[in-house]
Amino acid sequence: MRRVEIFDTTLRDGEQSPGISLSVEEKVEIAYQLARLKVDVIEAGFPITSEGDFESVSRIAAEVDGPTITGLARVHEADIVRAWEAVQWSRRPRIHTFVGTSDLHIEHQMQSDQEDILQRTGEAVRHAKSLAPEVEFSPMDATRTEIGYLAEVVRIAVEAGADVVNIADTVGYTTPVEFAAFLRELQERVPELTERTLSVHCHDDLGLAVANSLAGVVVGAGQIEVAVNGIGERAGNASLEEVVMALATRGDHYGVEVGTETRQISNTSRLVSNITGYEIPPNKAIVGRNAFAHESGIHQDGVLKDRRTFEIMTPEDIGLEGNNIFLGKHSGRHALKDALEELGYSLDGEVLKRAFVRFKEIADHKKSVTAADLEAIAADEVGSFEGKFVLGSFRVVAATGRQSRAAVTISHAERGTFEAEAEGEGPVDSVFRAIDAATSIKGRLTDFRTDAVTGGKDALGEVRVTVEFEDREYSGRGLSQDVVEAAARAYVRAVNVYTAGRVGAAWATP
Ligand SMILES: [Zn+2]
Repeated sequence: MRRVEIFDTTLRDGEQSPGISLSVEEKVEIAYQLARLKVDVIEAGFPITSEGDFESVSRIAAEVDGPTITGLARVHEADIVRAWEAVQWSRRPRIHTFVGTSDLHIEHQMQSDQEDILQRTGEAVRHAKSLAPEVEFSPMDATRTEIGYLAEVVRIAVEAGADVVNIADTVGYTTPVEFAAFLRELQERVPELTERTLSVHCHDDLGLAVANSLAGVVVGAGQIEVAVNGIGERAGNASLEEVVMALATRGDHYGVEVGTETRQISNTSRLVSNITGYEIPPNKAIVGRNAFAHESGIHQDGVLKDRRTFEIMTPEDIGLEGNNIFLGKHSGRHALKDALEELGYSLDGEVLKRAFVRFKEIADHKKSVTAADLEAIAADEVGSFEGKFVLGSFRVVAATGRQSRAAVTISHAERGTFEAEAEGEGPVDSVFRAIDAATSIKGRLTDFRTDAVTGGKDALGEVRVTVEFEDREYSGRGLSQDVVEAAARAYVRAVNVYTAGRVGAAWATP
């Protein structure tokens, strides 16, 4: 059977989703789990866009073994050098370079012409190939590019040494039948392509990303670009779990196999959702919480007699049944580390120490600490790693019929400790105002969501906020049994993200 490689771009395209801004620690944590999931390629970032992105890609290349590690680069010399400097530490480094090829992109995005783009493609791929053993080239907006010109660009990239040619449906415009015919024609026009890997990168603007990707497989694509939970620019990318399970479940139809460890899918999906704050819809294929639930009596009866009646996959296939973890207040640090590992988190050193302190605090007040609690603690600790502001203590007075009053103490790694008081509409508002006063940074709350991690009166509360500073939005997450404290932590984290200057790339990408 032909092997199709899974190229995961959760950390690059996925991270460009509105409101997601991951820290280096968070990206490294996700990359370790992607390696356990056994994806073939991890696109770890776009190194030239920021110091943080460069550092994440470098660390993932140096630390995460198994998959090929790649970084994105425009067809500019500086981008390619920077991408190489970051991925060179991997045992399997790859440079991924791209350029817009449709008339719209060439004119408005690149302010260039077809001839110039051909020349830059050749130069960039040759340059990348002189540095890295493996080079991938993507014509951006390929599906809206006239096929004759696209074939010219692809031939030049192949002649210059591109190992992988990735046809990007950047704006999610194509349809399965059309895409298959388009790729076939490209293969006919550029016969040299058969000796390289043909890849597809599909967006979900019309809900067709997975279907289009699978159409690519039918006509010979050897690599599919995906993101966990389908996150990504606008409506997102083809979802990893749907593509993988379609190929694994219907191998008979597609005649291909994948190397992915499907039993890690459930963990990976929850980990990415917890860390990014992007919730999974209950009815989402494969990983939604209802994907394996059988509500109707008729279905249940059928399932009880023989599961195959209404199930084409089992919960075990995606690792859903392995989550019966319960820890109590007598569980030690080793038990916590083991449980976290089973859930996909590889915490160590300081982060593990802090997670253990949090675990103990919670275990003292809660009968048993469940897998969902542990995942929330782990995601929270991984995310709070690089902040310079730390919430010390707070006090709130709230009563019906009058303004709430809050006092907070906040310490800063370099500037010392600050105290402030403020009044506001209710306890949460007054705490936020007091934090603004203590940090001397004024934010504007644009979104506030609160959720109970598990059921029961002693449940952990999780708060997610989006705060605007200087016309840009930053997100934060906080966790506590006290919802006001969770809100305060979330707000302080958003301040930390803002002051660390973490902003995504402003450039268009495939
Ligand atoms: Zn994309």
